[in-house]
Amino acid sequence: MRIKITQVLTFILFYSSALADKSYHSTDTLLTRIKLKCASVPQLSCHMKDDILVVDWNKHVSDKSNVLLVFNEHARERITGEVALKVIHKLRKWKPNKRVTIIPVLNVWGRKHVEAGHPCQRKNSRGVDTNRNYQMRANTHSYAKNSEEWEGKKPLSEKESKLVSSLLLEGVQRYVNVHSGEKSIYMPYDSRVGVRPKHYTVMADNIKKWAEKCKECAVGAAASTSFYRAYGTSVDWAVDHGVPEAYTFEVFGNEASWDCNRMFNPNKRDLHSILKQWSGIIKDVIFS
Ligand SMILES: [Zn+2]
Repeated sequence: MRIKITQVLTFILFYSSALADKSYHSTDTLLTRIKLKCASVPQLSCHMKDDILVVDWNKHVSDKSNVLLVFNEHARERITGEVALKVIHKLRKWKPNKRVTIIPVLNVWGRKHVEAGHPCQRKNSRGVDTNRNYQMRANTHSYAKNSEEWEGKKPLSEKESKLVSSLLLEGVQRYVNVHSGEKSIYMPYDSRVGVRPKHYTVMADNIKKWAEKCKECAVGAAASTSFYRAYGTSVDWAVDHGVPEAYTFEVFGNEASWDCNRMFNPNKRDLHSILKQWSGIIKDVIFS
């Protein structure tokens, strides 16, 4: 079988940039480190749902201020898993008195696939963009099956979206879905302009406040701020299913790069400042 020159170049590029990326954890190492934290910190607990690790701080506290944080839904956005690790590490020092549920890597198969030499992998193992899998009848959209945004055969068909949607209905008050590819702090709607979710003013005030730690971020309702409409996202689904607040954070982007690794993930030099910046913003999310 002939191997295309572009495949060889992608492979070499990925491994040369991956080698310079020793500061990134492999998915196995990242999840093991978090499980070790769960074993040693009494307020932290871990459980598996299929291959997805779910971490809880104060699992048995329910004070109507529960926070749900989801990271690494898109495989290639490995930086987001690193932000999750940082936040979990910091919880011990921060000691919030509310329940905080964290999924550090939602697309586990995908992140490992990236590590195996497929740096542009975005969707899950079944070719579904799970952040388009929350289609609602009133506002649905069909993406091409071979596109990077295929919504799947039916709404909530994927284990990832089944898990997140079930957690969202368990009393979550504030939900943040963390991605990379640009720098932004968004609120819903992703799919509609000219319509406001129920708690629009509360969310608008919050994102303005959080953006003080990210002056370079695009800030606002996603569809109207980015001029791009995404249909079937979990944040749109959340606010239409009774979750008071939902946000999408995009923590890093390098549009100048044509290498997926560098497009979505900061290099070693910038990694520390990105982790510091976003763990600070997420601290504000948990405490405000
Ligand atoms: Zn993403």
